[in-house]
Formats: sequence, structure tokens, C-alpha cells
Amino acid sequence: MTPHPDPRAGAAVKAADRAHVFHSWSAQGLIDPLAVAGAEGSYFWDYDGNRYLDFTSGLVYTNIGYQHPKVVAAIQEQAGKLTTFAPAFAVEARSEAARLIAERTPGDLDKIFFTNGGAEAVENAIRMARLHTGRPKVLSTYRSYHGGTATAVNLTGDPRRWASDNGTSGVVHFWGPFLYRSPFYSETEQQECERALQHLEDTIAFEGPATIAAIILETIPGTAGIMTPPPGYLAGVREICDRYGIVFVLDEVMAGFGRTGAWFAADHFGVVPDLLTFAKGVNSGYVPLGGVAISGAVAATFENRPYPGGLTYSGHPLACAAAVATINVMAQEKVVEHAAHIGETVLGPGLRELAERHPSVGEVRGTGVFWALDLVKDRETREPLVPYNASGAANAPMAAFAAACKKNGLWPFVNMNRTHAVPPCNVTEAEAKEGLAALDVALSLADEHTV
Ligand code: PMP
Repeated sequence: MTPHPDPRAGAAVKAADRAHVFHSWSAQGLIDPLAVAGAEGSYFWDYDGNRYLDFTSGLVYTNIGYQHPKVVAAIQEQAGKLTTFAPAFAVEARSEAARLIAERTPGDLDKIFFTNGGAEAVENAIRMARLHTGRPKVLSTYRSYHGGTATAVNLTGDPRRWASDNGTSGVVHFWGPFLYRSPFYSETEQQECERALQHLEDTIAFEGPATIAAIILETIPGTAGIMTPPPGYLAGVREICDRYGIVFVLDEVMAGFGRTGAWFAADHFGVVPDLLTFAKGVNSGYVPLGGVAISGAVAATFENRPYPGGLTYSGHPLACAAAVATINVMAQEKVVEHAAHIGETVLGPGLRELAERHPSVGEVRGTGVFWALDLVKDRETREPLVPYNASGAANAPMAAFAAACKKNGLWPFVNMNRTHAVPPCNVTEAEAKEGLAALDVALSLADEHTV
């Protein structure tokens, strides 16, 4: 699986990258990207012969791992048949992908608007909600990430918003529930649920219900920390939306397509939004694809009135063929059930066992192949291992943790004071255990920074 090392080729790739590639979210002069030679399944490797178990699934999107032969073959077959065709035409790969997605999304989310990724899906969901209601404002949570384009980054709660937010976007942020670091000082899940819903009610009352087009939530917020909402919260938001005629948008760009051990995270809660955004896992990220699944009521708004939005590559045949093949692989190989099983039998118990032995682990949260370790200096006070949005020397404990993971063959997802265990949904039991063993070693370093 690992080809022969070829450091000279790696150096050439790196040199061209450093000279010409402008990287996302980075100070260009301060980064040192790894040159990747190849990838297969849950692993990738560099040109020096180092192999890494990918506990990040890329950017949480390779839900069936790298280079699944059936999906690669489907892309090749589609390329030979019809590589591209404009969105206004009915094309087999596109209509079949839409049918398979609509079949799996909850409730009557039966129409699919295709985009090239998650942020464009969010942009279009918000446009649909504003036109459907005729209202301007959108509510989103502080602990969220919704994408890097104009509206999506304004909706985003994390610091990536700060540089782009001029305060005129029509977005109003509020606090979602998060018992471990409760904004409402709750002590139980029930309190947290009730207080978070009351806070949302108050926010709506003071903003003016008739000005609010949509509430957008990640069903289980991902980048912000994998915080499963307390029982009753999403049903409560659904009820509030119904009462005020607000469009309920669930962003499942990260949580969708098997990640949580269900096709969609909303399935765990029995809640059906009016719009559901997806991307990433829909085709394991092999070709860029995202979209909005639209309810009958919202779709009806645009039955006799044009929808004023579109993208050149909407529903690109290569991306859609990859989605059809991915969804079929997930169904045939029971990947969603497997993700649930690995969460229940290996990752969940394994991470909790690590928490027992490592004082730096404040909380273990998650489900399926979607887990976070909240690292702390002090379990009693829950003070994070590094300050919010720390960089440089202040972030040294997390940087050392990440370096130790890599030295032990694990590529970790690290965000602020958290590490997320988010391997592909078809990660094997042995691979998951290998990842836990590497985390065990790296957590010993984090322990050195506890009180
Ligand atoms: N929404 C969520 C919940 C996400 O996690 C992301 C990406 N991490 C996005 C939207 C944006 O997706 P993209 O990067 O494909 O535009």
C-alpha cells in the first residue's frame, strides 16, 4: 500500500507548492505543508515513506476512505461517457444522485439543489429562506462553522468570521446548548435544554419575529466541538420555527452521510428541518459536491416563480456519479451501520478509557465516528488546555500533542483545545484501536500541562 520513498520528488512538489500555492486560512510564510504521495482507505503517506492513519478523514469528508475502487471506477466510467453538462439539462448521473439523496433525507426534503460544496449550499439555503419568508434576518449560533463565503462566514460563530464580518449581514448570533461549558450555567441536560430554548425565544422576541427568515444550526456542531444537543432541544427549535413562520435550516455538511452512525444526524432526533445542507460525505469528497435538500413547502415558493440563483457546475456529472457510487457503496457495505457499531464498541469505550487515565481529558463527546476530546488544564475548573483561539507559544501544548500523534503514525484533527477522532465511517476495528494507542501516547504530553 505504501510506495517506495522518493524524497526528491517530494521536494519538487513542496518547492512548487511553496512558490505558487496560496493556502487557506494561513499565514503563507509560516506554513510547512506535508507533501502527500498517496492515500488508500484510512491511510495516506508522504514521499519519505511515512504512513499516517487519517483520524481527520481529510476535512471530515472521506467517509468511505481514500480511493475506494468502486467510486474511482464510477468516476472513470462517467468521464468516458459524459464528463460534463450544463445544469439546465436532465442528465442521468445528476437525476440519479438527486433521487438517492432525496430517498435518504428525512421527511419531505425531496428536491435537491446542487452546489460545489458546503458554503455554497448554506448561501443558497439562506437565499431560499429569505425569499420564502420575505424576511431579512438569520439566527445562528456562536459555536458554529458554516463556510468561508460571504454569508456563510458571517453565519459562522468561530473566529474565522471576525476578519470578514462588517456587521451588516443580517445575521444575529445566539448561544446553542453545550452542557460541559454551559452559557446558561446549567447543571443538567434538561436545564440546558430549557434555558437554551428560552434564550432563543428571548432573542427572537427582542429581534422581532417578523424580521427573522431562518434559524440555522449544525445538527451536531462539528468544528466547534461535536456537541450533541440535549434531548428535546432540536424538537423545541422546530416548534419555535413553526410558531413564528421561521425556516429551520439544519447544516449537515459535516454530520451527514453516515458520520454519526445514521444517514443524517437529524435522524437521531426525529426532527425534520425545512432545508438541509450537505456536502463532504455525499461522495466522500472525491469530486467537489454539495447541496440543499428542500421541503415541499419551500420548493413550492419557486414553482411558478424563478429561483434567482445558480452555479455553472451545479450537479456536475463527475461529482454526481461519485455520489451515486458512494451512496451505493455505503448501502451495500452497510457503512452507516458500521460507523454506529465502531462508535459503540471501539471509539466510545476506548476514548472513555483514555479519559480515565489522562487528567488532560476533560470530556469525551460524540457518536458514530464523530468524537471530540475536550482537553483541559484542570478537570475541576474545566479551564481549557490552551486559551480560546490561542496561537504561537500560547498554543504550544496542543502543537506538542499534534506532533506526538504524527510521530506515532496518527494524523490528528486539532482545533483550539480539542482533538477530534473522526476517521472514515468504514474504519476497521484494528485501525480504530491503532488510533487510540497513538492518542494514548500523545495525551501523556498534554497531561504534563495539567495542574
Ligand atoms: N457547514 C459545515 C457544518 C461545515 O463543517 C463546513 C466545512 N467544514 C461547511 C459548512 C463549509 O463547507 P465547504 O468548506 O465545503 O464550503
